[in-house]
Amino acid sequence: MTSTAPATSPTFVNGDVSFWYREGGLPARRPALPGDLDVDVALVGGGLTGLWTAYYLKQAQPDLRIAVLEKEFAGFGASGRNGGWLSAEPPGQMHRYAKAHGWPAAVAMQREMFSSVDEVIRVAAAEGIEADIRKDGLLHVATNAAQQQRLRDRLPSLRAEGWGEDDLVELDADQLAERVRVAGARSAQWSPHCARIQPAKLVRGLADVVERMGVAIYEGTEVTEIRPGEAVTRLGTVRATNVIRALEGFTAGLRGSHRDWLPMNSSMIVTEPLEQSVWDEIGWRGAELIGDEANSYCYIQRTTDGRIAIGGRGIPYMYGSHVDQRGETRTATQLQLQAILRQHFPATRNTAIDHTWSGVLGVPRDWCATVHLDQRTGLGWAGGYVGHGVTTTNLAGRTLRDLILRQDTDLVRLPWVGRRVRGWEPEPLRWLGVRSLYVAYRAADRHENSGLARTSAIARLANVISGR
Ligand SMILES: Cc1cc2nc3c(=O)[nH]c(=O)nc-3n(C[C@H](O)[C@H](O)[C@H](O)COP(=O)(O)OP(=O)(O)OC[C@H]3O[C@@H](n4cnc5c(N)ncnc54)[C@H](O)[C@@H]3O)c2cc1C
Repeated sequence: MTSTAPATSPTFVNGDVSFWYREGGLPARRPALPGDLDVDVALVGGGLTGLWTAYYLKQAQPDLRIAVLEKEFAGFGASGRNGGWLSAEPPGQMHRYAKAHGWPAAVAMQREMFSSVDEVIRVAAAEGIEADIRKDGLLHVATNAAQQQRLRDRLPSLRAEGWGEDDLVELDADQLAERVRVAGARSAQWSPHCARIQPAKLVRGLADVVERMGVAIYEGTEVTEIRPGEAVTRLGTVRATNVIRALEGFTAGLRGSHRDWLPMNSSMIVTEPLEQSVWDEIGWRGAELIGDEANSYCYIQRTTDGRIAIGGRGIPYMYGSHVDQRGETRTATQLQLQAILRQHFPATRNTAIDHTWSGVLGVPRDWCATVHLDQRTGLGWAGGYVGHGVTTTNLAGRTLRDLILRQDTDLVRLPWVGRRVRGWEPEPLRWLGVRSLYVAYRAADRHENSGLARTSAIARLANVISGR
């Protein structure tokens, strides 16, 4: 009989931003914008994009007047809710970047992603940000023949994109089992370029650091309109030479931006701490991040206090680019994630779910992230990281620094800089399209689980339509 309710612990919480805030509680609010203000740079959005940009700008030019304008509190969005993969996965399709700028530029972008993982770790150590960081790499695991074939097929193009022999290592089922026992696993690929982080600790720590450097962070301050030289709020207007939009999944809420990036929903569950006997059965002693190769894939981390956190799509998109605020997750999604948890790790059969939450990330129509600054108007943005924003926000911050300070560096020549983004279809096409795609991906996964040797035709068609 299928259960209609997830197995939850007595301390179970649904939403309340995310589990990552349970340790230490939600942060006390900083003051809101006191009225009209003049600064050099206004950063709209207090997530990692806004904060990294503030950090690198202030470091390069300490006398710059910088204000971060945040609707709720710094870290309220995806930056305080994510799966904690500080990974070098590209924030877009390399062949698309290469098509516009050539393969050397795409490979340079991949190398920057590798080094950005280490840059985040370096800054966290240098600034005393304690974010449970541990770099044990990333495992992509195949649990059926079609997934295994996808891993094999992807290898040549990854090599061409700059993943050398040391950057990506193939593991057979036995080699994988030495690291972690995922039920039914046939093979895996391991990359050293990924660290486990505790998202709220990272974003909160970074906000404190930039504030100490002299950046003003105004919370409870919603920007209603961005125009050249101005970020408009109900509390006052911030005039600035540069106004940078750093809203990712919330971009659609801004006037005139509702078709730029699709607010894609992602949901997570975290278990209660596992008994040692359960860990012994799973054998996962390191802090590797784990992703499966299903079409509606999931992402997994072992938390520092011995829980498993697992995320996936759930309800991928809400009509009219609506975003929920506090991160509540529907029961059906909790059950889906619980089923994936038990499927991959049967030893968790009696483990309860302690917290569930959701958030939004930004997806451009061509699934390729962009960073941009119009030198004429001073308006800029970065985002659309398609679920790989934890590392890419750092690269975005350093790139925006160079663009704002008009530095001619290698970063400003990367292929995602100034890339034009096509808008999403109007409603109801957008809703129908995205919802149908994820129904298709789930059907494709069921099809592949029935013994298919290659990627299901349903998934291939869905990939063509989605542009993924
Ligand atoms: C559940 C989940 C799991 C994820 N897992 C991973 C992962 O493991 N690895 C990875 O690389 N990426 C992951 N991502 C994506 C990654 O977290 C994001 O791409 C990244 O954090 C985006 O950072 P940001 O600063 O651009 O946006 P956000 O962190 O979303 O920040 C935007 C901020 O803008 C504020 N805001 C909204 N509207 C306004 C307004 N009008 N005025 C002022 N402020 C406003 C919001 O409150 C928010 O604080 C995940 C995302 C989600 C939701």
